[in-house]
Amino acid sequence: MPQDVSSVAVPFPTRADLALMEGYHSPQVNCSVRLNTNESPFPAPAGWQEALSDSVASLDFRRYPDRSASALCGGLAGFHGVEPCNVFAANGSNEVLQTICLTYGGAGRTVLVFEPTYAMHSHIARVSGSTVVTVNRAENLTLDIATVLAAIDEVKPAIIFLCSPNNPTGLIEPRALVESVVAHATGIVVVDEAYGQFADWSAQELLSESATLCVVRTYSKTWAMAAARLGYLLAPKWMIADFEKTVLPYHLDSVKQIAGLLALRYAEDMRARVGELTKERERIISALHGLAVEVWPSQANFVLFRPHGVTADDAWQLMVDQSVLVRNCASWPGLAGCLRVTVGTPDENNAFLAALQVALQGPGQ
Ligand code: PMP
Repeated sequence: MPQDVSSVAVPFPTRADLALMEGYHSPQVNCSVRLNTNESPFPAPAGWQEALSDSVASLDFRRYPDRSASALCGGLAGFHGVEPCNVFAANGSNEVLQTICLTYGGAGRTVLVFEPTYAMHSHIARVSGSTVVTVNRAENLTLDIATVLAAIDEVKPAIIFLCSPNNPTGLIEPRALVESVVAHATGIVVVDEAYGQFADWSAQELLSESATLCVVRTYSKTWAMAAARLGYLLAPKWMIADFEKTVLPYHLDSVKQIAGLLALRYAEDMRARVGELTKERERIISALHGLAVEVWPSQANFVLFRPHGVTADDAWQLMVDQSVLVRNCASWPGLAGCLRVTVGTPDENNAFLAALQVALQGPGQ
């Protein structure tokens, strides 16, 4: 929980540009159905957990981990059909994003983001000392190529963040848009594909040694391993070499390296989870079409919607009262009145739909 230190006399202040910032918080409320943080509702395979326990039992904890995580990066390279020198892994994709900002952003450099999008892109960029320039998406939450290219020409950003599928909208960026951005980029183009397994295309197709593109992935969602804190990116080898300059030595512990490598043996289980969640997502979307809400199409494991006739705050609270927790996005840029629900198990999704129907009747019913 963030601490209230407003009445404390602080003996030494932060940098002035951090003073007014707030940390990133996803409120956790004690509900039996938790559909607010886009995790997998299905556990990781039991076989993976057993293999991990066995490997950890024989781990030599005296020794520092393999500094370049070579077995894990080799496994990921094979999985994605790239070379090990094209892979960089870190503690969650958030640390991957931070490494990008520390390496290519910083004082005197600009980072371009398109709101609404994943709040950590601009947050991490600011913490790294970069100047953040924000461009708004169209009212339907898509990005218009001409607007994006004009922003690049004007801002000449060191880093451009795209997110596909975009959190919290669920929309993907079309290939033509990402291609144009890469062609016009004045710096690094980051495509955050934390939900990439749900999408019908990946910017991985556009990677090359001459493009300033990197693609970020995570084990936190489809691999059902959010607790492990493991993410990675795919990039040209010169970019990976740059990251090695900024990342802390031995940043990735041995347990995590083993966990990530072992998980790749269960790629079929992962794909099966994606298949089930996709079906459930479409079931939720068609049920929402029958209710008094506006709903966006999604290529992720969550759905953005806007209740009609009741405020997002009231609808959120009325669902919490029924022990169903979704994400209240109403205060996010461009998302007035919106909520986001993570696709859960069929039972959880039924509980969500039932709770929403009650909530749509408004408070005091
Ligand atoms: N990118 C996006 C778009 C996300 O939604 C998230 C998690 N909410 C992350 C990155 C960070 O994921 P992690 O650090 O768990 O890999």
